[in-house]
Amino acid sequence: MKIGVLALQGDFDAHRKRLEELGAEVVLIKNPAQLDEIKGLVIPGGESGTFLKLLGEGGFEKLKKFVQMKPTFGTCAGAILLASEVENPKQSGLGALDIRIRRTAYGRQIDSSIREGRFLQEHGGDTPLEMVFIRAPKIERVGPGVEVIATEAGDPVAVRQGTVMAATFHPELSDDTRLHQTFLKLVGSCEASG
Ligand code: GLN
Repeated sequence: MKIGVLALQGDFDAHRKRLEELGAEVVLIKNPAQLDEIKGLVIPGGESGTFLKLLGEGGFEKLKKFVQMKPTFGTCAGAILLASEVENPKQSGLGALDIRIRRTAYGRQIDSSIREGRFLQEHGGDTPLEMVFIRAPKIERVGPGVEVIATEAGDPVAVRQGTVMAATFHPELSDDTRLHQTFLKLVGSCEASG
């Protein structure tokens, strides 16, 4: 299964390693034209404003079409890019997830931290999950079609809407592989249903 990792900027290599460990064939996406080759995409952490600049208008439109059609998983800056509403400061989002997200919401004092949150699985499972937060955004509003798949201190930190997933933390930096596995399962089920 060919999975792309957007490799314009940020920590794309940790995602590449994790996905390869889980058996995926990874394509590093440096040019939006490469999106045509892949079944699913991971948008890594980094700096969301810089992603927008590097994508340019054409790249943004191409990516917007991709995320409407194919499974996509955004982490941290990737989650910001996928949102419908972005604050602090306001900036464009791809509108794939009906959420409002606030950039760098924990302030400079708690720049980075490792916390234990909860992973909410299908059928009511609820287990601990290590979460690495780095200049993390906060999901402030979750629309009616959005499922919360992980929480930290009661707040949503990972969500899914249709075939789009996002986490405000960095699952690629923890040993726990379950979020990436969940994403690969999503890609597999989309491929099976055509
Ligand atoms: N604060 C960054 C942004 O606004 C995201 C940080 C990250 O991806 N680790 O884009």
